[in-house]
Amino acid sequence: MPKTPQAIRGTQDIFGPDAEAFAFVVETFERVRKLYRFRRVEMPVFEKTEVFARSIGETTDIVSKEMYSFDDRGGESLTLRPEFTAGIARAYLSNGWQQYAPVKLATHGPLFRYERPQKGRYRQFHQIDAEIIGAAEPQADVELLAMADQLLKELGIEGVTLHLNTLGDGDSREAWRAALVDHFRAVKDELSEDSQERLEKNPLRILDSKDRRDQRFVADAPKIDQFLSDDARAFFDAVTSGLDAAGVKWQRAESLVRGLDYYRHTAFEFIPDEGSEAAGKLGSQSTILGGGRYDGLMESLGGAATPAVGWAAGIERLAMLVGEREEDALELAVVVEGDTEQLHSAGVRTAMMARSEGVAAEVFAAGSPRKRFDKAVKSGAKVIMAFGEDGEGNLQAPRMKGDEADIERVSHALREFALKLRD
Ligand code: ATP
Ligand code: MG
Repeated sequence: MPKTPQAIRGTQDIFGPDAEAFAFVVETFERVRKLYRFRRVEMPVFEKTEVFARSIGETTDIVSKEMYSFDDRGGESLTLRPEFTAGIARAYLSNGWQQYAPVKLATHGPLFRYERPQKGRYRQFHQIDAEIIGAAEPQADVELLAMADQLLKELGIEGVTLHLNTLGDGDSREAWRAALVDHFRAVKDELSEDSQERLEKNPLRILDSKDRRDQRFVADAPKIDQFLSDDARAFFDAVTSGLDAAGVKWQRAESLVRGLDYYRHTAFEFIPDEGSEAAGKLGSQSTILGGGRYDGLMESLGGAATPAVGWAAGIERLAMLVGEREEDALELAVVVEGDTEQLHSAGVRTAMMARSEGVAAEVFAAGSPRKRFDKAVKSGAKVIMAFGEDGEGNLQAPRMKGDEADIERVSHALREFALKLRD
Protein backbone atom coordinates (compact mmCIF):
# COMPACT_ATOMS: atom_id res chain seq x y z
CA MET A 1 0.00 0.00 0.00
CA PRO A 2 1.36 3.46 -0.86
CA LYS A 3 1.99 5.66 2.17
CA THR A 4 -0.65 8.29 2.92
CA PRO A 5 0.67 11.85 2.69
CA GLN A 6 1.45 13.73 5.91
CA ALA A 7 0.46 17.32 6.68
CA ILE A 8 3.13 20.00 6.35
CA ARG A 9 5.07 20.59 9.57
CA GLY A 10 3.61 23.51 11.51
CA THR A 11 0.15 23.27 9.95
CA GLN A 12 -2.92 22.11 11.83
CA ASP A 13 -6.13 20.27 11.01
CA ILE A 14 -8.61 21.71 13.47
CA PHE A 15 -11.69 19.68 14.36
CA GLY A 16 -14.23 19.15 17.12
CA PRO A 17 -14.17 21.29 20.30
CA ASP A 18 -11.01 23.10 19.12
CA ALA A 19 -12.73 24.05 15.88
CA GLU A 20 -15.75 25.26 17.86
CA ALA A 21 -13.46 27.46 19.99
CA PHE A 22 -11.83 28.81 16.83
CA ALA A 23 -15.25 29.63 15.34
CA PHE A 24 -16.36 31.24 18.61
CA VAL A 25 -13.36 33.61 18.47
CA VAL A 26 -14.10 34.60 14.89
CA GLU A 27 -17.85 35.00 15.50
CA THR A 28 -17.26 37.14 18.57
CA PHE A 29 -14.76 39.28 16.66
CA GLU A 30 -17.30 39.75 13.85
CA ARG A 31 -19.93 40.85 16.35
CA VAL A 32 -17.67 43.24 18.24
CA ARG A 33 -16.12 44.83 15.17
CA LYS A 34 -19.63 45.72 14.00
CA LEU A 35 -20.35 47.40 17.35
CA TYR A 36 -17.36 49.65 16.66
CA ARG A 37 -18.28 50.03 12.97
CA PHE A 38 -15.15 48.44 11.52
CA ARG A 39 -15.72 47.50 7.87
CA ARG A 40 -14.93 44.01 6.72
CA VAL A 41 -12.23 43.50 4.05
CA GLU A 42 -11.00 40.33 2.35
CA MET A 43 -7.34 40.37 1.36
CA PRO A 44 -5.20 38.23 -0.95
CA VAL A 45 -3.18 35.49 0.74
CA PHE A 46 -0.12 36.40 -1.33
CA GLU A 47 1.49 39.62 -2.47
CA LYS A 48 4.59 40.65 -4.36
CA THR A 49 7.54 40.05 -2.05
CA GLU A 50 8.46 43.73 -2.07
CA VAL A 51 5.18 44.61 -0.32
CA PHE A 52 6.48 42.91 2.84
CA ALA A 53 10.18 43.58 2.32
CA ARG A 54 9.65 47.33 1.98
CA SER A 55 7.06 47.83 4.69
CA ILE A 56 8.02 45.38 7.42
CA GLY A 57 11.74 46.05 7.02
CA GLU A 58 14.64 43.91 5.83
CA THR A 59 16.17 43.66 9.31
CA THR A 60 13.16 42.08 11.00
CA ASP A 61 12.94 38.37 11.80
CA ILE A 62 9.89 38.12 9.58
CA VAL A 63 11.57 39.38 6.42
CA SER A 64 15.05 38.04 7.07
CA LYS A 65 14.11 34.47 8.00
CA GLU A 66 10.40 33.71 8.27
CA MET A 67 8.85 34.44 4.89
CA TYR A 68 7.51 31.83 2.49
CA SER A 69 8.72 33.37 -0.76
CA PHE A 70 8.84 31.73 -4.17
CA ASP A 71 9.07 32.61 -7.83
CA ASP A 72 5.82 31.96 -9.67
CA ARG A 73 5.74 30.52 -13.18
CA GLY A 74 6.16 34.00 -14.61
CA GLY A 75 9.38 34.48 -12.64
CA GLU A 76 7.92 37.01 -10.19
CA SER A 77 8.86 36.78 -6.52
CA LEU A 78 5.72 36.30 -4.41
CA THR A 79 5.28 35.80 -0.69
CA LEU A 80 2.55 34.14 1.38
CA ARG A 81 1.44 36.89 3.75
CA PRO A 82 3.22 36.78 7.13
CA GLU A 83 0.92 39.53 8.48
CA PHE A 84 -2.07 41.60 7.36
CA THR A 85 -0.98 45.20 7.78
CA ALA A 86 1.42 45.46 4.83
CA GLY A 87 -1.14 44.01 2.41
CA ILE A 88 -3.89 46.26 3.72
CA ALA A 89 -1.59 49.29 3.30
CA ARG A 90 -0.83 48.18 -0.26
CA ALA A 91 -4.56 47.82 -0.94
CA TYR A 92 -5.28 51.24 0.55
CA LEU A 93 -2.81 52.80 -1.88
CA SER A 94 -3.68 50.75 -4.96
CA ASN A 95 -7.45 51.19 -4.59
CA GLY A 96 -7.51 54.83 -3.55
CA TRP A 97 -9.19 54.04 -0.23
CA GLN A 98 -8.03 57.53 0.84
CA GLN A 99 -11.52 58.57 -0.29
CA TYR A 100 -12.98 56.72 2.72
CA ALA A 101 -10.41 57.98 5.25
CA PRO A 102 -10.44 57.77 8.14
CA VAL A 103 -11.41 54.16 7.51
CA LYS A 104 -11.77 51.37 10.05
CA LEU A 105 -11.06 47.91 8.63
CA ALA A 106 -11.27 44.39 10.02
CA THR A 107 -10.35 41.01 8.60
CA HIS A 108 -9.24 37.54 9.58
CA GLY A 109 -7.54 34.57 7.95
CA PRO A 110 -4.36 32.48 7.64
CA LEU A 111 -0.80 33.80 7.82
CA PHE A 112 2.46 32.01 7.07
CA ARG A 113 5.79 32.21 8.86
CA TYR A 114 8.70 29.78 8.74
CA GLU A 115 9.17 29.40 12.50
CA ARG A 116 10.06 26.52 14.80
CA PRO A 117 6.67 24.90 15.46
CA GLN A 118 5.64 24.43 19.09
CA LYS A 119 2.57 24.89 21.26
CA GLY A 120 0.96 28.18 20.25
CA ARG A 121 3.40 28.71 17.38
CA TYR A 122 2.72 27.39 13.91
CA ARG A 123 3.86 27.89 10.34
CA GLN A 124 0.32 28.45 9.16
CA PHE A 125 -1.59 30.28 11.86
CA HIS A 126 -4.57 32.61 11.89
CA GLN A 127 -5.21 36.13 13.05
CA ILE A 128 -8.02 38.54 13.55
CA ASP A 129 -6.93 42.02 12.57
CA ALA A 130 -8.21 45.56 13.01
CA GLU A 131 -6.81 48.77 11.51
CA ILE A 132 -7.77 52.45 11.54
CA ILE A 133 -6.16 54.23 8.59
CA GLY A 134 -6.02 57.98 8.07
CA ALA A 135 -6.59 58.94 11.72
CA ALA A 136 -3.81 60.87 13.43
CA GLU A 137 -5.53 61.54 16.73
CA PRO A 138 -4.91 59.58 19.94
CA GLN A 139 -8.65 58.89 20.22
CA ALA A 140 -8.22 56.41 17.37
CA ASP A 141 -5.69 54.46 19.45
CA VAL A 142 -8.09 54.52 22.38
CA GLU A 143 -11.04 53.24 20.35
CA LEU A 144 -8.95 50.49 18.81
CA LEU A 145 -7.75 49.36 22.25
CA ALA A 146 -11.22 49.59 23.73
CA MET A 147 -12.41 47.23 21.02
CA ALA A 148 -9.62 44.76 21.82
CA ASP A 149 -10.47 44.95 25.52
CA GLN A 150 -14.17 44.37 24.90
CA LEU A 151 -13.40 41.46 22.61
CA LEU A 152 -11.35 39.72 25.31
CA LYS A 153 -14.13 40.31 27.82
CA GLU A 154 -16.78 38.91 25.50
CA LEU A 155 -14.61 35.88 24.90
CA GLY A 156 -14.61 35.39 28.67
CA ILE A 157 -10.81 35.70 28.85
CA GLU A 158 -9.51 36.83 32.23
CA GLY A 159 -6.10 37.51 33.73
CA VAL A 160 -4.78 39.33 30.67
CA THR A 161 -3.45 42.90 30.86
CA LEU A 162 -2.76 45.57 28.28
CA HIS A 163 0.96 46.43 28.32
CA LEU A 164 1.46 49.86 26.84
CA ASN A 165 4.43 51.91 25.66
CA THR A 166 5.21 54.80 23.36
CA LEU A 167 8.03 54.80 20.85
CA GLY A 168 7.64 58.54 20.40
CA ASP A 169 7.57 60.41 17.10
CA GLY A 170 10.34 60.10 14.50
CA ASP A 171 12.72 62.46 16.36
CA SER A 172 12.17 60.94 19.81
CA ARG A 173 12.64 57.48 18.39
CA GLU A 174 15.91 58.50 16.68
CA ALA A 175 17.37 59.99 19.87
CA TRP A 176 16.34 56.93 21.89
CA ARG A 177 17.85 54.68 19.28
CA ALA A 178 21.19 56.47 19.44
CA ALA A 179 21.24 56.16 23.25
CA LEU A 180 20.40 52.46 23.03
CA VAL A 181 23.24 51.87 20.58
CA ASP A 182 25.68 53.52 23.03
CA HIS A 183 24.31 51.49 25.92
CA PHE A 184 24.47 48.12 24.21
CA ARG A 185 27.73 48.76 22.36
CA ALA A 186 29.48 48.93 25.74
CA VAL A 187 28.48 45.29 26.41
CA LYS A 188 28.44 44.09 22.83
CA ASP A 189 30.54 40.95 23.38
CA GLU A 190 28.15 39.67 26.05
CA LEU A 191 25.04 40.00 23.89
CA SER A 192 23.54 37.13 21.89
CA GLU A 193 24.76 36.78 18.31
CA ASP A 194 21.40 37.99 17.03
CA SER A 195 21.54 41.11 19.16
CA GLN A 196 25.11 41.89 18.17
CA GLU A 197 23.81 42.02 14.66
CA ARG A 198 20.74 44.07 15.65
CA LEU A 199 22.95 46.60 17.38
CA GLU A 200 23.71 48.57 14.24
CA LYS A 201 20.64 47.74 12.17
CA ASN A 202 17.73 47.70 14.60
CA PRO A 203 18.79 48.26 18.23
CA LEU A 204 15.22 48.70 19.51
CA ARG A 205 14.72 45.06 18.78
CA ILE A 206 17.27 44.08 21.41
CA LEU A 207 14.69 45.18 24.00
CA ASP A 208 12.33 42.63 22.45
CA SER A 209 14.88 39.79 22.66
CA LYS A 210 13.84 36.56 24.34
CA ASP A 211 17.49 35.58 24.95
CA ARG A 212 18.59 35.69 28.61
CA ARG A 213 22.04 36.99 27.67
CA ASP A 214 20.35 40.14 26.32
CA GLN A 215 17.67 40.52 28.97
CA ARG A 216 20.29 41.24 31.65
CA PHE A 217 21.17 44.49 29.88
CA VAL A 218 17.63 45.47 28.93
CA ALA A 219 16.52 46.37 32.46
CA ASP A 220 18.90 49.33 32.83
CA ALA A 221 18.81 50.43 29.18
CA PRO A 222 17.83 54.08 28.53
CA LYS A 223 14.06 54.65 28.58
CA ILE A 224 12.08 56.42 25.87
CA ASP A 225 10.64 58.91 28.39
CA GLN A 226 13.94 60.82 28.53
CA PHE A 227 13.75 61.45 24.81
CA LEU A 228 10.09 62.19 24.21
CA SER A 229 9.33 65.47 22.47
CA ASP A 230 6.54 67.58 23.99
CA ASP A 231 4.21 66.53 21.20
CA ALA A 232 4.99 62.86 21.65
CA ARG A 233 4.46 63.10 25.40
CA ALA A 234 1.13 64.92 24.94
CA PHE A 235 0.04 62.22 22.50
CA PHE A 236 0.83 59.44 24.94
CA ASP A 237 -0.90 61.27 27.80
CA ALA A 238 -4.02 61.59 25.66
CA VAL A 239 -3.96 57.86 24.94
CA THR A 240 -3.62 56.88 28.60
CA SER A 241 -6.27 59.28 29.86
CA GLY A 242 -8.60 58.10 27.07
CA LEU A 243 -8.07 54.50 28.18
CA ASP A 244 -8.82 55.46 31.77
CA ALA A 245 -12.02 57.18 30.65
CA ALA A 246 -13.02 54.11 28.65
CA GLY A 247 -12.35 51.86 31.64
CA VAL A 248 -9.58 49.92 29.88
CA LYS A 249 -6.98 48.73 32.40
CA TRP A 250 -3.38 49.14 31.27
CA GLN A 251 0.12 48.93 32.59
CA ARG A 252 3.21 50.81 31.43
CA ALA A 253 5.85 48.61 29.78
CA GLU A 254 8.95 50.69 29.10
CA SER A 255 10.83 47.97 27.24
CA LEU A 256 7.95 47.04 24.99
CA VAL A 257 8.78 47.60 21.33
CA ARG A 258 7.12 45.97 18.40
CA GLY A 259 9.22 43.74 16.19
CA LEU A 260 8.39 45.70 13.08
CA ASP A 261 10.20 48.80 11.84
CA TYR A 262 7.23 50.95 10.98
CA TYR A 263 5.85 51.67 14.44
CA ARG A 264 5.62 55.18 15.97
CA HIS A 265 4.00 56.41 19.18
CA THR A 266 1.70 53.82 20.74
CA ALA A 267 2.90 50.22 20.99
CA PHE A 268 1.04 47.58 22.95
CA GLU A 269 0.53 43.92 23.69
CA PHE A 270 -2.07 42.03 25.68
CA ILE A 271 -0.19 39.54 27.86
CA PRO A 272 -1.44 37.05 30.48
CA ASP A 273 -0.61 38.06 34.06
CA GLU A 274 2.18 36.06 35.63
CA GLY A 275 0.86 33.03 37.51
CA SER A 276 -2.63 33.41 36.03
CA GLU A 277 -4.58 30.54 34.55
CA ALA A 278 -4.19 32.17 31.14
CA ALA A 279 -0.39 32.19 31.47
CA GLY A 280 -0.50 28.50 32.36
CA LYS A 281 -2.54 27.65 29.27
CA LEU A 282 -0.27 29.51 26.88
CA GLY A 283 3.11 28.39 28.13
CA SER A 284 5.99 30.39 26.74
CA GLN A 285 4.06 31.77 23.76
CA SER A 286 2.42 34.44 25.79
CA THR A 287 1.49 37.44 23.67
CA ILE A 288 -2.03 37.10 22.41
CA LEU A 289 -2.64 40.45 20.78
CA GLY A 290 -0.19 43.09 19.63
CA GLY A 291 -0.08 46.26 17.63
CA GLY A 292 0.49 49.97 17.57
CA ARG A 293 0.66 53.09 15.49
CA TYR A 294 2.43 52.83 12.14
CA ASP A 295 2.47 56.37 10.78
CA GLY A 296 5.57 55.63 8.69
CA LEU A 297 4.33 52.62 6.75
CA MET A 298 2.53 54.16 3.76
CA GLU A 299 5.60 56.20 2.85
CA SER A 300 7.79 53.11 2.79
CA LEU A 301 5.40 51.79 0.12
CA GLY A 302 5.70 55.04 -1.87
CA GLY A 303 2.41 56.54 -0.69
CA ALA A 304 1.72 59.87 0.98
CA ALA A 305 2.31 60.08 4.73
CA THR A 306 -0.75 58.49 6.33
CA PRO A 307 -1.31 58.06 10.04
CA ALA A 308 -2.64 54.66 11.04
CA VAL A 309 -2.96 52.34 14.00
CA GLY A 310 -3.84 48.65 14.22
CA TRP A 311 -3.58 45.34 15.99
CA ALA A 312 -3.60 41.64 15.30
CA ALA A 313 -4.28 38.68 17.57
CA GLY A 314 -3.55 35.01 17.09
CA ILE A 315 -6.83 33.08 16.81
CA GLU A 316 -5.18 29.84 18.02
CA ARG A 317 -3.84 31.54 21.15
CA LEU A 318 -7.22 33.14 21.87
CA ALA A 319 -8.91 29.80 21.30
CA MET A 320 -6.53 28.15 23.79
CA LEU A 321 -7.68 30.64 26.42
CA VAL A 322 -11.33 30.16 25.53
CA GLY A 323 -10.89 26.42 26.02
CA GLU A 324 -12.67 23.60 24.26
CA ARG A 325 -16.23 24.36 23.32
CA GLU A 326 -18.99 21.89 22.63
CA GLU A 327 -21.06 22.12 19.50
CA ASP A 328 -24.53 23.53 20.11
CA ALA A 329 -26.93 20.73 21.01
CA LEU A 330 -29.14 19.36 18.28
CA GLU A 331 -32.65 20.71 18.81
CA LEU A 332 -34.72 18.33 16.76
CA ALA A 333 -34.02 14.75 15.66
CA VAL A 334 -36.54 13.52 13.10
CA VAL A 335 -36.72 9.72 13.05
CA VAL A 336 -38.07 7.94 10.00
CA GLU A 337 -39.26 4.55 11.22
CA GLY A 338 -39.59 2.78 7.88
CA ASP A 339 -38.51 3.00 4.29
CA THR A 340 -41.61 4.04 2.36
CA GLU A 341 -41.54 7.16 0.25
CA GLN A 342 -44.33 8.63 2.36
CA LEU A 343 -42.28 8.30 5.57
CA HIS A 344 -39.06 9.63 4.09
CA SER A 345 -40.73 12.67 2.62
CA ALA A 346 -42.56 13.39 5.90
CA GLY A 347 -39.18 13.30 7.67
CA VAL A 348 -37.32 15.43 5.18
CA ARG A 349 -40.11 18.00 5.00
CA THR A 350 -40.40 18.30 8.76
CA ALA A 351 -36.67 18.90 9.14
CA MET A 352 -36.76 21.44 6.33
CA MET A 353 -39.65 23.30 8.00
CA ALA A 354 -37.86 23.36 11.36
CA ARG A 355 -34.60 24.69 9.84
CA SER A 356 -36.50 27.39 7.94
CA GLU A 357 -37.70 28.59 11.34
CA GLY A 358 -34.19 28.56 12.81
CA VAL A 359 -34.39 25.20 14.61
CA ALA A 360 -31.33 22.96 14.14
CA ALA A 361 -32.62 19.61 12.86
CA GLU A 362 -31.24 16.33 11.59
CA VAL A 363 -33.00 13.40 9.93
CA PHE A 364 -32.33 9.82 11.07
CA ALA A 365 -33.35 7.76 8.08
CA ALA A 366 -30.32 5.60 7.30
CA GLY A 367 -29.33 2.13 8.50
CA SER A 368 -31.59 -0.35 10.19
CA PRO A 369 -34.99 1.23 10.96
CA ARG A 370 -34.95 -0.33 14.43
CA LYS A 371 -31.72 1.45 15.36
CA ARG A 372 -32.68 4.92 14.09
CA PHE A 373 -34.50 5.85 17.25
CA ASP A 374 -31.51 4.77 19.38
CA LYS A 375 -29.18 6.90 17.26
CA ALA A 376 -31.46 9.89 17.71
CA VAL A 377 -31.39 9.40 21.48
CA LYS A 378 -27.59 9.15 21.41
CA SER A 379 -27.33 12.38 19.42
CA GLY A 380 -28.51 14.24 22.53
CA ALA A 381 -31.28 16.01 20.62
CA LYS A 382 -33.60 18.02 22.83
CA VAL A 383 -36.67 16.80 20.95
CA ILE A 384 -37.18 13.56 19.04
CA MET A 385 -40.00 13.34 16.56
CA ALA A 386 -40.68 9.89 15.14
CA PHE A 387 -42.73 9.19 12.01
CA GLY A 388 -44.28 5.74 11.53
CA GLU A 389 -47.10 4.00 9.66
CA ASP A 390 -49.88 1.76 10.90
CA GLY A 391 -50.40 -1.79 9.59
CA GLU A 392 -52.31 -0.49 6.55
CA GLY A 393 -49.58 1.91 5.45
CA ASN A 394 -51.25 5.07 6.79
CA LEU A 395 -48.98 7.81 8.15
CA GLN A 396 -49.48 8.15 11.90
CA ALA A 397 -49.31 11.37 13.89
CA PRO A 398 -45.65 11.79 14.87
CA ARG A 399 -44.61 10.79 18.41
CA MET A 400 -42.72 13.51 20.27
CA LYS A 401 -40.24 13.00 23.08
CA GLY A 402 -38.43 15.61 25.16
CA ASP A 403 -38.97 18.31 27.78
CA GLU A 404 -42.34 20.02 27.54
CA ALA A 405 -40.79 23.46 26.92
CA ASP A 406 -38.55 22.11 24.16
CA ILE A 407 -41.46 20.29 22.50
CA GLU A 408 -43.51 23.46 22.69
CA ARG A 409 -40.73 25.52 21.06
CA VAL A 410 -40.28 23.06 18.19
CA SER A 411 -44.03 22.70 17.66
CA HIS A 412 -44.39 26.45 17.65
CA ALA A 413 -41.72 26.74 14.93
CA LEU A 414 -43.47 24.13 12.79
CA ARG A 415 -46.85 25.86 13.25
CA GLU A 416 -45.27 29.18 12.25
CA PHE A 417 -44.03 27.59 9.06
CA ALA A 418 -47.43 26.12 8.31
CA LEU A 419 -49.11 29.49 8.90
CA LYS A 420 -46.78 31.16 6.40
CA LEU A 421 -47.77 28.57 3.80
CA ARG A 422 -51.42 29.40 4.30
CA ASP A 423 -50.96 33.19 3.86
P1 ATP B 1 5.85 36.53 18.95
O1 ATP B 1 6.64 37.47 19.77
O2 ATP B 1 5.03 35.55 19.75
O3 ATP B 1 6.64 35.88 17.85
P2 ATP B 1 5.03 38.51 17.08
O4 ATP B 1 5.49 39.78 17.63
O5 ATP B 1 5.79 37.86 15.98
O6 ATP B 1 4.76 37.43 18.24
P3 ATP B 1 2.79 39.67 15.72
O7 ATP B 1 3.47 39.69 14.43
O8 ATP B 1 2.57 40.95 16.43
O9 ATP B 1 3.51 38.62 16.68
O10 ATP B 1 1.40 38.91 15.61
C1 ATP B 1 0.33 39.17 16.49
C2 ATP B 1 -0.16 37.92 17.16
O11 ATP B 1 -0.24 36.83 16.26
C3 ATP B 1 0.74 37.39 18.25
O12 ATP B 1 0.52 38.08 19.44
C4 ATP B 1 0.29 35.94 18.35
O13 ATP B 1 -0.92 35.84 19.09
C5 ATP B 1 0.01 35.61 16.93
N1 ATP B 1 1.13 34.90 16.30
C6 ATP B 1 2.27 35.44 15.78
N2 ATP B 1 3.05 34.47 15.25
C7 ATP B 1 2.39 33.29 15.44
C8 ATP B 1 2.67 31.92 15.12
N3 ATP B 1 3.77 31.57 14.46
N4 ATP B 1 1.76 30.97 15.50
C9 ATP B 1 0.63 31.31 16.15
N5 ATP B 1 0.32 32.58 16.47
C10 ATP B 1 1.18 33.56 16.13
MG1 MG C 1 7.27 36.35 15.92
